[in-house]
Parts: sequence; C-alpha cells; structure tokens
Amino acid sequence: MAGLSDLYQEILLEHNSKPRNFKKVDDASQTADGYNPLCGDQITLYLKVVDGVIDDVGFQGSGCAISRASASMMTQSIKGQSLEKVQEIFEAFHYMITEPGGEIDLDTLGDLETLSGINEFPTRIKCAVLAWHTMNAALSGESEVTTE
Ligand code: ZN
Repeated sequence: MAGLSDLYQEILLEHNSKPRNFKKVDDASQTADGYNPLCGDQITLYLKVVDGVIDDVGFQGSGCAISRASASMMTQSIKGQSLEKVQEIFEAFHYMITEPGGEIDLDTLGDLETLSGINEFPTRIKCAVLAWHTMNAALSGESEVTTE
C-alpha cells in the first residue's frame, strides 16, 4: 500500500500547486469566509447557485497544502451538482475524514478518496474540512466560519 500513499501525495501536491477553480466568482449568489486558527488556513468561497444546482464555484485564500488541495478537489466535485447531491458528498467526505477505518463511499466521493489518509493526522483534519464547512456556511447563509 506504500505505492498508493505516494500516489495520493502526488495528487495532493498537484492540486496544491495548480488549484482548480482558484478564482473569484463575480456573480456569486453566496460567499463565505472560513478560517482555521490552528493552522492559519484562510479561504473565501464563492458559490453561484442557479435552480438548486452549483452553476459555478471558486475559492481564494491562503493556507497549507492540505487545505488548498482539499478546497480544489471540493470545487471540482461539487460543480454542476444539485444541492442535495452536494450535501451527500459533504456527509460522505466528513465521515471519511473523521472516522478512520470506516467504510468509504467511493461512488459518492470519487477522487476525494485521495484525502482519506488525512484521518491519520488529527491535527490536519481541520485543514481538510475547512473548505467544506465554509461551503456549508455559505449555503446556509452564514458569511463566516471558523473550525473551532
Ligand atoms: Zn492547514
């Protein structure tokens, strides 16, 4: 399994150096700021929701490789999805990252499984979930969230 984690690390670093949807969405319908004081990760998330579907998504901010890679992968996985599906992905992701050894819902998670190894590093879990909590805050009309 050592090869697998090398591959995971490679994907993570690739997302960190070339984050997807790293942009401001000018006509966003929802935005929120997220902050993880434990690590100093900061993210602004932009969502454009049209007819219950994530029509466009972008993020900006600064943080560690895990927070950036997780945000990048999140934007990829939720773009074009219905809000119901996004909630499903969020729950599957949250379970994966907080329940080591739990069953991973590959159908729902796809490439996000790459981040499953993070659950072995408790101090980094908040880095990985920051973008997700920020998305939830944005969708529920809150403009700010911290991971504490
Ligand atoms: Zn971090």
